[in-house]
Amino acid sequence: MNDCIFCKIIAGEIPSVKIYEDDDVYAFMDISQTTPGHTLLVPKQHVADILAYDADLASKVFSKLPMIARAVKNSDPAIKGLNIVNNNGEVAYQSVFHSHIHIIPRYSSADTFAIRFSDNSADYSAEQLQALAAKIVAHLEK
Ligand code: 5GP
Ligand code: ZN
Repeated sequence: MNDCIFCKIIAGEIPSVKIYEDDDVYAFMDISQTTPGHTLLVPKQHVADILAYDADLASKVFSKLPMIARAVKNSDPAIKGLNIVNNNGEVAYQSVFHSHIHIIPRYSSADTFAIRFSDNSADYSAEQLQALAAKIVAHLEK
């Protein structure tokens, strides 16, 4: 895709700070550095988001994730943990529509990054959970 910023980065048409590259993936420093060491892992193939992955692409990309994540974690003893984040769709805060996985080092709970899951469990009966699950299960690919 000609006007894709990450395709241009992969092709070397736009500079980036590379962490790792092989035939299938490219990993580089996120320009925003949400926390120091913030890294992106992207497939070289242009796909908009995770919904466009087949099993082969998923295996090529996700099999590299632990290796990259370990390198980020081990790069600084002050890194206590990592958030691995993948946004899909504008409503989910995706802003670059070439699929990418964020690896965000966590130094403390006061980092300039917050992700919190709201606990709405009190709002759901067992029957409501079953009904939601049934709709999802009906769409599993055979
Ligand atoms: P999203 O919001 O789509 O999940 O994340 C897109 C990420 O791409 C952002 O964290 C942003 O900082 C990063 N980004 C956008 N443009 C560039 C760029 O030109 N170079 C690099 N290295 N990162 C970029
Ligand atoms: Zn692209």
